[in-house]
Amino acid sequence: MAELTHEPAEGAKSAGTPEPLTREVFLPLWRETLAASPELAAKPEIFSSDEAAEKLFRIAERLTANARRFNLTSILAPRDIAEKHLADSLVPLSILLDCGLPLGEDLGEPYTVLDVGTGAGFPLLPWAAVLPDDPEILSFTGLDATGKKLAHVRESAEYAGLRTVRTVQGRAEDCARKPGMREAFDLVTARAVAPLPVLAELCAPFVKPGGFFAALKSVPQTEEDGELGAARPAFKKLGLGGQSSGPEIFRFALPNGDPRSLVLCKKRGLTPREYPRRWAEITKRPIV
Ligand code: SAH
Repeated sequence: MAELTHEPAEGAKSAGTPEPLTREVFLPLWRETLAASPELAAKPEIFSSDEAAEKLFRIAERLTANARRFNLTSILAPRDIAEKHLADSLVPLSILLDCGLPLGEDLGEPYTVLDVGTGAGFPLLPWAAVLPDDPEILSFTGLDATGKKLAHVRESAEYAGLRTVRTVQGRAEDCARKPGMREAFDLVTARAVAPLPVLAELCAPFVKPGGFFAALKSVPQTEEDGELGAARPAFKKLGLGGQSSGPEIFRFALPNGDPRSLVLCKKRGLTPREYPRRWAEITKRPIV
């Protein structure tokens, strides 16, 4: 099953060392990106503050500086960072807030968010940058199989002053069997990790019953309907959705016109113990 990720092919990542990113270059581009993204412009108190801009600059600056060393991404032109990494991560957050998810609300205990395959820290770091920086309100966990990418995420979080971010190294299919991680998160998200049926099996076991799975997708919208159709049996077997709990697709466009979408689904019951299976089985025999 082909997956169109947000990234060009792996080999393209080595092209050229980017110029160090400065505030003078980044901040005007970020203001333009905000103005061209209706979902962000609609919530200026969250997305347009000077404090958020400074934290996002620091995340972008570290990404540019570390990209080659940690093999993070080939999307490094300043405008592309603003649009294809930051807006691409933050527009879905705006949609989740519109859906009533209580990210940033004081619930008496932290609202827990897991980013599966966080890589260079997307969407995890931009979410933590714009939401309240209070560990009693929010807890963000970035999970990845690759330790050096998580070192970058921790370095970026520290540089941007984000106190709500922690990382866990491991494979999702192993971590999902660990006490303290299985059915332990209010919201589980992932961007550019795997096709939807595979992603659902990796992510659903982490979601608390009553919590949500949110997949950030970049596949063309016509194909995506097929992808979602193919994933429906998997969602059902994994305890996701049904009746009025989704899955639901929200579509949006980046300022450059690139189509994107967010697949959102509530978890209704427990995920059967047999899931997630081993990686080879998940990918060779997706749930049908
Ligand atoms: N979410 C980031 C990174 C996408 S690249 C972004 O949007 O930029 C995919 C990442 O998922 C890689 O860092 C890879 O190490 C991680 N990954 C893939 N399969 C995984 C698995 N089964 N368990 C944990 N991490 C995984």
